Amino acid sequence: MRLSQSLIPTLKETPAEAQIASHRLMLRAGLVRQMSSGIYAWLPAGLRVLARIEQIVREEQNAAGAQELLMPTIQSADLWRESGRYDAYGKEMLRITDRHDRELLFGPTNEEMITAILRDTTKSYRDLPQIPYHIQWKFRDEVRPRFGVLRGREFLMKDAYSFDLDYESALLSYKKMMLAYMRTFQRIGITAIPMRADTGQIGGDLSHEFHILAPTGESGVFYDADFKAGNALSVKYDEAALNQFYQSVTTKYAATDEKHDTEIWATIPDARKREGRGIEVGQIFYFGKKYSESMNYSVIGPDGGKIFPEMGSYGIGVSRLVGAIIEAQHDDAGIIWPDAIAPFRTAILNLRQGDGACDAICESLHAEFGDDCLYDNREERAGAKFAEADLMGHPWQIIVGPRGAAKGEVELKRRASAERFELPVAQAVAMVRG
Ligand code: ATP
Ligand code: MG
Repeated sequence: MRLSQSLIPTLKETPAEAQIASHRLMLRAGLVRQMSSGIYAWLPAGLRVLARIEQIVREEQNAAGAQELLMPTIQSADLWRESGRYDAYGKEMLRITDRHDRELLFGPTNEEMITAILRDTTKSYRDLPQIPYHIQWKFRDEVRPRFGVLRGREFLMKDAYSFDLDYESALLSYKKMMLAYMRTFQRIGITAIPMRADTGQIGGDLSHEFHILAPTGESGVFYDADFKAGNALSVKYDEAALNQFYQSVTTKYAATDEKHDTEIWATIPDARKREGRGIEVGQIFYFGKKYSESMNYSVIGPDGGKIFPEMGSYGIGVSRLVGAIIEAQHDDAGIIWPDAIAPFRTAILNLRQGDGACDAICESLHAEFGDDCLYDNREERAGAKFAEADLMGHPWQIIVGPRGAAKGEVELKRRASAERFELPVAQAVAMVRG
């Protein structure tokens, strides 16, 4: 992509409405534009990040045995009357009336709808377990939308739902999702700590929230410094490995302020106590038969009797993650994208547009990296190009100036560490390719 032709409207000034770094940087780097309160348009660079996160989430859900489907954003009020949540949900739910005066709503979550789908399609114990999921826009009419995409009203969520025949199997589904989440965050390149959490609106009795630590986080968190995520990517989806993994990530104390237990906290050595703020990027729940019973969903068991499935639900805030990652990974100059989700892995900075050697090297690099690089081919000062590349946070910058170009060399800069290397073009390419 040539920067001169791109739709990446970066801003030099700091937007007045943005209170925190990620919101400021998302606007300044041209990732999103606010369309109305808590509602954002994703511009090309922002959409690339969103899509990359979505793809990692999808691959890890699939690896855990979950199956993707797509439910609509609009739901019928009657469905929510079945579970009793239509009135309970209150003002956060956007209620809509169609031309026939039928009551609809823009889904804030999908427990009712997925239960209705399984109720119609799975009739026998042989049809379970199932973990369907989708990645779909949600709407919650938040009292105070703020911090950009961190607390929007319209936001993208991955939500999975598990249906099992008994408690042991439901707990295993819960552990599979715990592993899928830890693998997802590891692949994205961030640390998110699972914390014991309250179950809130969804109901039930077992829940973990996944928090990215950041001083601007909305939740108070307490955790043991000995927490270690370990290498989730090496864990297999068999029962013994899942149990061991679950044990290892949940035995160290970690809780949100709502679930904080001062008695247990007192038993942890002071040197290991950590208190801070976290951004909730995901939450998993086990809630048993709450929806299967209220919505009368049962399957026929081996002995001909009815079994009401044990359920759980599992959310990841895909759009919130974009802001949360920036909140955790930025400096004064701009964003520092993890390699796996950067909109462009590499920026090519042509410091002397029109110089034969510079142009030739830049064109060949642009052809080499294709869609995964952004070529700053503007007629601009070098300083402006450096600032723009740092702001946008590309993991690698290939800086092409006339002195080096004459010798067939470029300067390679790693955004995260600010390391610089002067290298022949081919070596720079090899290093970026890793
Ligand atoms: P919060 O406590 O932040 O309001 P929640 O607990 O109500 O969130 P869940 O129902 O657990 O949210 O939804 C799953 C995930 O969806 C959350 O972990 C979060 O990452 C994301 N999410 C929830 N509300 C929003 C929002 N208003 N804007 C962006 N992402 C959100
Ligand atoms: Mg939550």
